[in-house]
Amino acid sequence: MSTLPDLKSCFTQLIAAPSISALEAEHDMSNHAVINLLQNWFSELGFECETPTVADSRNKQNLIARIGSGSGGLLLAGHTDTVPFDEGLWSQSPFEMVEKNNRWYGLGTCDMKGFFALVLEALKDMPLDQFKRPLTIFASADEETTMSGAKAFADSKVVAPDFAVIGEPTSLKPVYMHKGQIAQGIHVIGRSGHSSDPARGLNAIEVMHKVISQLMKLKQHLSENYREDAFTVPYPTMNFGHIHGGDAANRICGCCDLHLDIRPLPGMELAELELMVLHYLSDISKEYPGSISVSTLYPGAESFAGKADNPWTKLVAELSGNEAEVVNYSTEAPYINKLGCQTLVLGPGSINQAHQPDEFIGLEYLTPTVDLIKKMIYHACIK
Ligand SMILES: [Zn+2]
Repeated sequence: MSTLPDLKSCFTQLIAAPSISALEAEHDMSNHAVINLLQNWFSELGFECETPTVADSRNKQNLIARIGSGSGGLLLAGHTDTVPFDEGLWSQSPFEMVEKNNRWYGLGTCDMKGFFALVLEALKDMPLDQFKRPLTIFASADEETTMSGAKAFADSKVVAPDFAVIGEPTSLKPVYMHKGQIAQGIHVIGRSGHSSDPARGLNAIEVMHKVISQLMKLKQHLSENYREDAFTVPYPTMNFGHIHGGDAANRICGCCDLHLDIRPLPGMELAELELMVLHYLSDISKEYPGSISVSTLYPGAESFAGKADNPWTKLVAELSGNEAEVVNYSTEAPYINKLGCQTLVLGPGSINQAHQPDEFIGLEYLTPTVDLIKKMIYHACIK
């Protein structure tokens, strides 16, 4: 018998270990406290644990915990970090787990530190010495910002599982596909001057007008030439989300900024999309040398395409009693998928509670999740 804490205590301790990721250094936190808890608990069950430091992550760690010999097997993956929380909008401390209304409230309950507690609970009474194929637990750093933990893990190729499940909150529905995302900023520099004589300047708003016309053509090209009917919006979208330029009606606008978001379908690389944006703007860039610059606003996320009809998707759909589906948010799945495994996203709780004040997991998920994890491990590692 292991001396692991009970499920609620595991949840409580994970929630009490703040692990916020933010691109701004002043809001960013270490994830070592969460890594230490998980490393202790998985070690106690007999897992071999490694905690490599992730490059360019302000010294954060991944955890890779393995048990069982042989090849293939199962990878259960998740992230150790959470998003920042809205001060004042929570009815309680985000780091003190509270049981109320048949729910556990706390930052990371459903997205997604709680998943690891449920994996531990499932493992407590499984025959860990009878695994014919290995089980790997992967807990990543910085999913909410750069996904650098999952990228480093995928590049390291230290495991080669047959199957993978990423325990993001999907209401226990197997997810086999999602779109990607990039956010681009277009910066136009003109020359300001008195409005009475346009020849004295270069109006950045007028240049941006041409830029937008070209981007509208790209938007149309994307929507007419790419299609994946599994999505409710079956084409790549482009959204103009922010524009600012100039300061006064009587001054020629000297600079103008536009922010846009593009959500590609699976099969389109982010780098390819970025090149498309540059290509559509190349004639205007030649007309106004040095005036137009394009930048990445924050790290993008690759799209993910597993298969609706591969054996793992079919099996997990059957075990969970839920049909496989596609979603509109991004996950680490495209990176995990690079390990060559059949990959799904599936976990307890709803995405509607993720990144929200008073995040919670409904207690009705606990037993079904533990049961489902046991069944997945049984099929992938024991049977
Ligand atoms: Zn998440």
